[in-house]
Amino acid sequence: MASELEPEVQAIDRSLLECSAEEIAGKWLQATDLTRELYQHLAHYVPKIYCRGPNPFPQKEDMLAQHVLLGPMEWYLCGEDPAFGFPKLEQANKPSHLCGRVFKVGEPTYSCRDCAVDPTCVLCMECFLGSIHRDHRYRMTTSGGGGFCDCGDTEAWKEGPYCQKHELNTSEIEEEEDPLVHLSEDVIARTYNIFAIMFRYAVEILTWEKESELPEDLAMVEKSDTYYCMLFNDEVHTYEQVIYTLQKAVNCTQKEAIGFATTVDRDGRRSVRYGDFQYCEQAKSVIVRNTSRQTKPLKVQVMHSSIVAHQNFGLKLLSWLGSIIGYSDGLRRILCQVGLQEGPDGENSSLVDRLMLSDSKLWKGARSVYHQLFMSSLLMDLKYKKLFAVRFAKNYQQLQRDFMEDDHERAVSVTALSVQFFTAPTLARMLITEENLMSIIIKTFMDHLRHRDAQGRFQFERYTALQAFKFRRVQSLILDLKYVLISKPTEWSEELRQKFLEGFDAFLELLKCMQGMDPITRQVGQHIEMEPEWEAAFTLQMKLTHVISMMLDWCASDEKVLIEAYKKCLAVLMQCHGGYTDGEQPITLSICGHSVETIRYCVSQEKVSIHLPVSRLLAGLHVLLSKSEVAYKFPELLPLSELSPPMLIEHPLRCLVLCAQVHAGMWRRNGFSLVNQIYYYHNVKCRREMFDKDVVMLQTGVSMMDPNHFLMIMLSRFELYQIFSTPDYGKRFSSEITHKDVVQQNNTLIEEMLYLIIMLVGERFSPGVGQVNATDEIKREIIHQLSIKPMAHSELVKSLPEDENKETGMESVIEAVAHFKKPGLTGRGMYELKPECAKEFNLYFYHFSRAEQSKAEEAQRKLKRQNREDTALPPPVLPPFCPLFASLVNILQSDVMLCIMGTILQWAVEHNGYAWSESMLQRVLHLIGMALQEEKQHLENVTEEHVVTFTFTQKISKPGEAPKNSPSILAMLETLQNAPYLEVHKDMIRWILKTFNAVKKMRESSPTSPVAETEGTIMEETSRDKDKAERKRKAEIARLRREKIMAQMSEMQRHFIDENKELFQQTLELDASTSAVLDNSPVASDMTLTALGPAQTQVPEQRQFVTCILCQEEQEVKVESRAMVLAAFVQRSTVLSKNRSKFIQDPEKYDPLFMHPDLSCGTHTSSCGHIMHAHCWQRYFDSVQAKEQRRQQRLRLHTSYDVENGEFLCPLCECLSNTVIPLLLPPRNIFNKLNFSDQPNLTQWIRTISQQIKALQFLRKEESTPNNASTKNSENVDELQLPEGFRPDFRPKNPYSESIKEMLTTFGTATYKVGLKVHPNEEDPRVPIMCWGSCAYTIQSIERILSDEDKPLFGPLPCRLDDCLRSLTRFAAAHWTVASVSVVQGHFCKLFASLVPNDSHEELPCILDIDMFHLLVGLVLAFPALQCQDFSGISLGTGDLHIFHLVTMAHIIQILLTSCTEENGMDQENPTCEEESAVLALYKTLHQYTGSALKEIPSGWHLWRSVRAGIMPFLKCSALFFHYLNGVPSPPDIQVPGTSHFEHLCNYLSLPNNLICLFQENSEIMNSLIESWCRNSEVKRYLEGERDAIRYPRESNKLINLPEDYSSLINQASNFSCPKSGGDKSRAPTLCLVCGSLLCSQSYCCQTELEGEDVGACTAHTYSCGSGVGIFLRVRECQVLFLAGKTKGCFYSPPYLDDYGETDQGLRRGNPLHLCKERFKKIQKLWHQHSVTEEIGHAQEANQTLVGIDWQHL
Ligand SMILES: [Zn+2]
Ligand SMILES: [Zn+2]
Ligand SMILES: [Zn+2]
Ligand SMILES: [Zn+2]
Ligand SMILES: [Zn+2]
Ligand SMILES: [Zn+2]
Ligand SMILES: [Zn+2]
Repeated sequence: MASELEPEVQAIDRSLLECSAEEIAGKWLQATDLTRELYQHLAHYVPKIYCRGPNPFPQKEDMLAQHVLLGPMEWYLCGEDPAFGFPKLEQANKPSHLCGRVFKVGEPTYSCRDCAVDPTCVLCMECFLGSIHRDHRYRMTTSGGGGFCDCGDTEAWKEGPYCQKHELNTSEIEEEEDPLVHLSEDVIARTYNIFAIMFRYAVEILTWEKESELPEDLAMVEKSDTYYCMLFNDEVHTYEQVIYTLQKAVNCTQKEAIGFATTVDRDGRRSVRYGDFQYCEQAKSVIVRNTSRQTKPLKVQVMHSSIVAHQNFGLKLLSWLGSIIGYSDGLRRILCQVGLQEGPDGENSSLVDRLMLSDSKLWKGARSVYHQLFMSSLLMDLKYKKLFAVRFAKNYQQLQRDFMEDDHERAVSVTALSVQFFTAPTLARMLITEENLMSIIIKTFMDHLRHRDAQGRFQFERYTALQAFKFRRVQSLILDLKYVLISKPTEWSEELRQKFLEGFDAFLELLKCMQGMDPITRQVGQHIEMEPEWEAAFTLQMKLTHVISMMLDWCASDEKVLIEAYKKCLAVLMQCHGGYTDGEQPITLSICGHSVETIRYCVSQEKVSIHLPVSRLLAGLHVLLSKSEVAYKFPELLPLSELSPPMLIEHPLRCLVLCAQVHAGMWRRNGFSLVNQIYYYHNVKCRREMFDKDVVMLQTGVSMMDPNHFLMIMLSRFELYQIFSTPDYGKRFSSEITHKDVVQQNNTLIEEMLYLIIMLVGERFSPGVGQVNATDEIKREIIHQLSIKPMAHSELVKSLPEDENKETGMESVIEAVAHFKKPGLTGRGMYELKPECAKEFNLYFYHFSRAEQSKAEEAQRKLKRQNREDTALPPPVLPPFCPLFASLVNILQSDVMLCIMGTILQWAVEHNGYAWSESMLQRVLHLIGMALQEEKQHLENVTEEHVVTFTFTQKISKPGEAPKNSPSILAMLETLQNAPYLEVHKDMIRWILKTFNAVKKMRESSPTSPVAETEGTIMEETSRDKDKAERKRKAEIARLRREKIMAQMSEMQRHFIDENKELFQQTLELDASTSAVLDNSPVASDMTLTALGPAQTQVPEQRQFVTCILCQEEQEVKVESRAMVLAAFVQRSTVLSKNRSKFIQDPEKYDPLFMHPDLSCGTHTSSCGHIMHAHCWQRYFDSVQAKEQRRQQRLRLHTSYDVENGEFLCPLCECLSNTVIPLLLPPRNIFNKLNFSDQPNLTQWIRTISQQIKALQFLRKEESTPNNASTKNSENVDELQLPEGFRPDFRPKNPYSESIKEMLTTFGTATYKVGLKVHPNEEDPRVPIMCWGSCAYTIQSIERILSDEDKPLFGPLPCRLDDCLRSLTRFAAAHWTVASVSVVQGHFCKLFASLVPNDSHEELPCILDIDMFHLLVGLVLAFPALQCQDFSGISLGTGDLHIFHLVTMAHIIQILLTSCTEENGMDQENPTCEEESAVLALYKTLHQYTGSALKEIPSGWHLWRSVRAGIMPFLKCSALFFHYLNGVPSPPDIQVPGTSHFEHLCNYLSLPNNLICLFQENSEIMNSLIESWCRNSEVKRYLEGERDAIRYPRESNKLINLPEDYSSLINQASNFSCPKSGGDKSRAPTLCLVCGSLLCSQSYCCQTELEGEDVGACTAHTYSCGSGVGIFLRVRECQVLFLAGKTKGCFYSPPYLDDYGETDQGLRRGNPLHLCKERFKKIQKLWHQHSVTEEIGHAQEANQTLVGIDWQHL
């Protein structure tokens, strides 16, 4: 089918191209019935342009539509060529001062925390950068798409509403000018015509519901019969389900199915089949059948192609309208008029209404197009925004109903536009007064929650999945309510008052349905069977929390409203609980001669609910009244007389008792749901409108009733009345009732009750309760959080309640109470409490959880000990209560309170028995302390005419009345002071007694005080104890001091290690390696050390002993003993690469012999330095393998290492490893035992070697052609003159033990396997090359790290590196002994030929394309294979030296050829020195050999400078190489940091300081060699500028430069679109930190196939950019991603910090982020050190969940 249609698709109808826009427009201008004319045009052409085949061709369609359809309209509108018309319109336009930029997904948006009216007010990046807010406290977020920039909206900003760009326009703007005045009458009329017709057309066709029939006026004459099978998206089916179904239904490949699914997800619909009706219908039925099993089926329609065509054009048309109105505000206004004009059908018939009301029926793509149009038209025109808002409000209920039925996310629903109107203060107020918006929203909300219980309360218990789903959706209504309330009115009109109170009524109705919902009953006997549903109710509570706070704020801003609201709230509360005594018997309680009537009610036996929003709202209003003082000015306005305090406190008290009982373990059988509810009740998210308000309500109650009555009711509710009302109950209790649980329970309840009393008296930090302001409140919260421990900014923010603007108010006070400590390289910045704030610490702070309380107590006591103070934590001095609450303090001196205190103290005095606890006593002591503080303050603030009625000191001095004759509280305290079992509380009791005396003194001195009588005894007692106490005290102080010193020392040590982790590790390593350093120390320090050549410094042989980490046995490293090995990790590397586009294409054929100077793909070896016996390791590895196999069979768990690839973790340090390196002695010494006196010079040596090579090559040829005639053969042998002493048939004996040989092969093969990514093959001739290469590459990479960090070459290298390099070099040097001699000889010949040309090697790279250090290593390490057959008396050392000199000279030529000496540098300073003239002469020679192609001759000074600089890395690498190869200690000069060390290096390496001398000494042969190098055609091409070459010194690779401000990265990423799905925004844009590529990660669209598996863009990128290893920044998440291979990865903390020294992974907090250079350097260092894979391994070992992530799909 598809193939038949192809030609039709390709061909473009000629008639279309011949259309002339001008002519058509002309015809329309003449038309009498324009509508008919236009519709006919559309009916004819639209189906010819759109939807001509199975797949859309958007470019072609757009082109044709512009040409045939839109072009004519533009002509018509302008009345001339639009190319001139539109610019004219634009010029005449006075543009709006609104920015209105619509945000793309992922675009950064900015909100000013100082000036934004609410957090929904945001700026685009451009406006933000040009605004005053960039210097304010701002918050940055990434947009979820939709919404626009509020720049220019004066209502959105308290200050600075315009950015620089948009400010320019405002100066000219007159008040509310009609934009139409800038347009001519004609244009207005024509625009009106065309807009009206086309807008109507678009709305009609988009809302058209028939599937195969067009509207009449669009019907076609010739009707083709093609259909589409259209698939729509829903939120029910997953991507995978859709893909699977499509493959089945329309027979497509998985790739195509993914394509379909992606489009359906993005646009909301996509045709999946094109053809005749039957054909499409068939696909439809398969899809429906396949997806209807569990859920409702996917929506599929078979639609006639012409309908689809018109709909596509309809969308195009809407976008077109959006762009046309961009030319002129006048055009925009006309469109708004057209859109909002009422149609013939009256109400709701305007085009805008019609679109809104069919929103839920439209597919996603259509919705977003028309929403965009609304945003750029109606919302940009202030006059029409208002009218639109009214339409929106009128349709509100219907729109919400539709939204409820729809299953799309809110972001794509028209209801999401509410934020645009409701947050604009004037609009919101207009909608409240004129459309009664508040009530409408609340009522709509209530309508959707119909499920109620018998009392009319919400019931979420038996919610079905569908109801739960709707409940989630209906929550967006609360969001709308929040928007409406977000800005408080500054002025109240009478209408506003009336409508607000109407809304308040509705709100109370809502709260009434919540009051008492989800009631619970204590489960006794058996455990509940099913956890009851509780989350829904709490979700509702949480969502409403801010709304309630805002309601209160509104009420607070107008006294009339406040009083009315108070009355209404009280009335509703009465309705809820008016009859609270119904059916419950009244009982009478009496203690100490006081009695009160209450009801019999037990929390532990009857129903209780945690939800009391009406009570709590009333509590809030009461506090507001208290603050406003209206209560005192016009008490007659208040219904205070109607208040019944016992009724007010009843339910909050029950709730608090419930918490206490849960804590006492009485509700264990009610399961976790209750525990969770209690948790949230106190949690920072809810407490403000739950727990806090309950405390306030009790405070209100106490302040209005006799405290004795209150306490008795409280005792009764806590079910403790019996205990305190019966004399000696405690004693009897403990002796009679032996049930320990009950005793325990009661103890806890008493503790809880005392705690509650402490809170009631002590919590006066809410403005209105106490005489404080909001700052005091937040300060106190922070002080108490920081009393627990120092905290990071984000931790602190999390522990504080946020207001609706997401502000905690913390910044304004934090400086006053805390010091900030900056973060180091890891960790976060921390706030520490200022010491002077410690005195404000209250142990019984009501927002502490139990754990926090005990932590804080411990921390504060420790602090006091450190400061050598006593450890009492007395209650802090409190601010006074507001007058309305003032009488509350009397609870402390009430008779019942004193009775409770006395009883508990009595128990403590007679301490035998269970019936008391230390915490109980501690609380009583705290309460006594509070009372003393209170009295002290009263006395301090006393004025003449007032009598201080607070006489706590007197009351506690009095002994009990006659019958009991119990001692006074004071006396009991004195007794307890010496009780040995109360050691901990001594300091506190002492403090109380001291304070008591102080208060007493004050009272005596104050005129109004009666005299106390007990002072004498106290003084006496105190003095009696004084001596004893003093002695004890001294001993205690001494002990504490000792403790403190010890603690300090260990703390300091730990701290030091933490701070200097790296340093510490290094010192450890240094310690360990001192032995090695000693080995290296020169025999005679003043001797010149030489690393190679016949003059090599002879070091006496050192014996080396090592211990196996597995069996702990010690062994000497010897040639013939068992092998010792180091765990090692070999990886491919591109860290040094200068050409990332190059990678090994076909590893099987790749020849690694010559390394290109771009170092594009190297093999790196690292080791943790841990040594094992080869056989111990083998056993360990086998067991790991076996375990892994068993484990994988059982459950397919991943590990951080891949056993199948030979990976394992070092048994000691768990470092990722994949092979082992054998430990060897310097191998050269084994073969270089003879010392020869007469050695050839370089020229002679080259000749000899050339002859030897020639001989070998001849023999090789002989071997490969065995069928030659024997005569000829022998003849040739004769012809061949074997060089003197050369015995090519000699095979040296391998000196190593079997075990060492085996390990040589093992490591060689591993290097080969990993380096080339091939199957292991120890016979492959490339194995030795890979070994040499890895040695050279690893040395080069370490040289780079040392240079970059300005560290000396032979400075204290961490011992693992030292061990690794030594072993690696010696291994590479010994490897030839296990390879085939002839293979190694072959490599040598070829390498040698690259510098000394010979006839049999022609296709060798030119010297510009060879990395000289790799060449040196290869030559030196291959040389023994040749030298071992040479018995002519040339030593190995001589060969090494000549090879080194030869390569060095080649490198100098390389440098000279590529040097670009810019003469503009510094001028030469010194007179010409020897080196300079020498290098100049050499350069001249070069100039001559290159046929003058070399650039003009620069000065000798510059040349010498560039040679010196260019050759340094090579010299350093060589020094390292020969140092490890031959074991010659490094000269002390190079061990310390300093300048280049050029001369020292030359000496160590047997080079003349004037390197050019090398050429002069060997000019004979060198001239011919140089000539041959220069003759190479590649060199010529380079000199002629036809190709490029690497220059020296090569610069170190760095990670890309990151911007200072993180938002510019976000912006960059938001402009990035997926490269594969046509301009779509990427969901997870990810930046490669190595090369700077942006990738579309974690998405189907950009998956590619790699080695037969689908992998994500990042994984694919690592293979080309980092040979499998990648370092990325996930821009949206602000998270660094490390990847290695397909299965390994981890997240790493990003190098961006906010001002508080914290990272923001996931960008949740939105604080501005700035680059932390040190942290970025650390990441770069990990990369340079090749430690990324190791880092991943450690991360995965530490966090197993990382192992399970599908890294390859990122
Ligand atoms: Zn803007
Ligand atoms: Zn702006
Ligand atoms: Zn600002
Ligand atoms: Zn061992
Ligand atoms: Zn290790
Ligand atoms: Zn890259
Ligand atoms: Zn993509």
